[in-house]
Amino acid sequence: MKLLQSIQQIARQHPNKLAFVNQGSQLSYGELWERSNRLASNIQKQAIDSKSPIIVYGHMGPEMIVSFLGCVKSGHPYIPVDMSIPIERIKKIIESSNAYLILSTESFENNYFDSNSIKIIESEELEEILTDETEIILENNWVNEDDNFYIIYTSGSTGNPKGVQITANNLQSFVDWMISDFPIDKQEVFLNQAPFSFDLSVMDLYPSLSVGGTLFAVTKEMVGNPKVLFNELKYSNINVWTSTPSFAQMCLMEPTFSQEMLPELEVFLFCGEVLTTDTANQLLDRFPNAKIFNLYGPTEATVAVSMIEVTKEMIATHDVLPIGRCKGDTKLFIVDENGKQLPDGEKGEMIIAGPSVSKGYLGEEGLTAKSFFIQEGERAYKTGDAGYIKNGLLYYKGRLDFQVKVHGFRMELEEIENNIGKSQFVEACVVVPVYRDEKIDYLTAFVVPAKHSFEKEFQLTSAIKKELSAMLPAYMIPRKFSYISQLPMTPNGKADRKKLLQEVMS
Ligand code: AMP
Repeated sequence: MKLLQSIQQIARQHPNKLAFVNQGSQLSYGELWERSNRLASNIQKQAIDSKSPIIVYGHMGPEMIVSFLGCVKSGHPYIPVDMSIPIERIKKIIESSNAYLILSTESFENNYFDSNSIKIIESEELEEILTDETEIILENNWVNEDDNFYIIYTSGSTGNPKGVQITANNLQSFVDWMISDFPIDKQEVFLNQAPFSFDLSVMDLYPSLSVGGTLFAVTKEMVGNPKVLFNELKYSNINVWTSTPSFAQMCLMEPTFSQEMLPELEVFLFCGEVLTTDTANQLLDRFPNAKIFNLYGPTEATVAVSMIEVTKEMIATHDVLPIGRCKGDTKLFIVDENGKQLPDGEKGEMIIAGPSVSKGYLGEEGLTAKSFFIQEGERAYKTGDAGYIKNGLLYYKGRLDFQVKVHGFRMELEEIENNIGKSQFVEACVVVPVYRDEKIDYLTAFVVPAKHSFEKEFQLTSAIKKELSAMLPAYMIPRKFSYISQLPMTPNGKADRKKLLQEVMS
């Protein structure tokens, strides 16, 4: 695979060049290549089904990217799982993916798992494998072409996460576009904000590795402590910034977040949620040497498929920023509810067709058939996003279903409801997003409680939240809980979300 060959070449020519740094650790290209070979060789010795996925658990450490490459060099796709994912959800991921091996780069509560059905290589053992001095015997068996390279689990409306399969070809198509169409081909420092279990992290990880760049990872300690974050940023020498708009907005609250703090910053890449004119404007004011790009795309089409540079002129003439034009090998068209292509200017569902569209959800034929199809020989994906085309540019107009983005995190309201519904204290529930300035600020759960013995509502809320924290990552747990005696219904008998939404907005 071309991407792996590029990394190999950089490791040979510049073994000491840094591939990765975070607060406190670093990894050179030479170490990345050799350690991932060691791991791949070890994986090949374990009798696991060929092509069976391997879970890589941890946070923003260098062992994560060593493990990713170790997996794909041994012929197995990896499933990145961030530490923020609770055990119950990891169990669901194991069940759905049939993974047999977990590589844990951080301490892991392994006594929750049946050692007959899953093998866990814990962080100390992993470290021993990676730094072992014996000769490496590695059968060349890299994942290639239509083999899965990684599988990223996203929120699913059925109540369980679903695994988006991204092949070597999907990823190569994305990386080729990034390198050819964005000013990022020099050996630069790339900010990596998103944890590896979100596909936004792929936007900097593989472009950076394939051009010999250095990934500068933001850890959760940094996100949780702005003083540490900005101090680390000051010494980061970042050239390319990749994050959600929400993260940049948070940084803008710090008055010293400017070109003076990051004198080398030349490019902002945003994706995953609406980039407002206000955020873009403030960034252009504070970073006069930088360009801003707004990218659009779902995990199912490998990170992003369209982009546009956002300039001061564009901000002056637009209330809502466009999401640009599609990459050269991909088509994006707008269809009505019968799948008929709509003319320019008319709003409909956005369909993406091209070589970076996933083959579907792992082990979920029904779900795959609902959203993926073949169009003129190319894989196509029904995004569930509404949009229109005007003067050759694409515009995003929100979702057609209950998928939402809260502070950059993708989730299905139905999955949250499904899990709240499992609480012993809950009879029925509906979750609604609460908006501020056109963006979702937080989620409120309207709950019809089951019989309980709590005196106060806050006690009931904390009991439900405690149960939920075992099943859902913290970012999916609604901030507010409101208790009602029954859910309002629409005339056709569905829970009346609009009415509940009006209630929270009034
Ligand atoms: P994810 O799979 O987490 O990348 O989320 C994909 C979804 O994020 C898309 O289907 C859109 O709803 C939303 N999204 C991605 N990029 C943008 C953008 N530039 N503007 C608005 N929404 C976006």
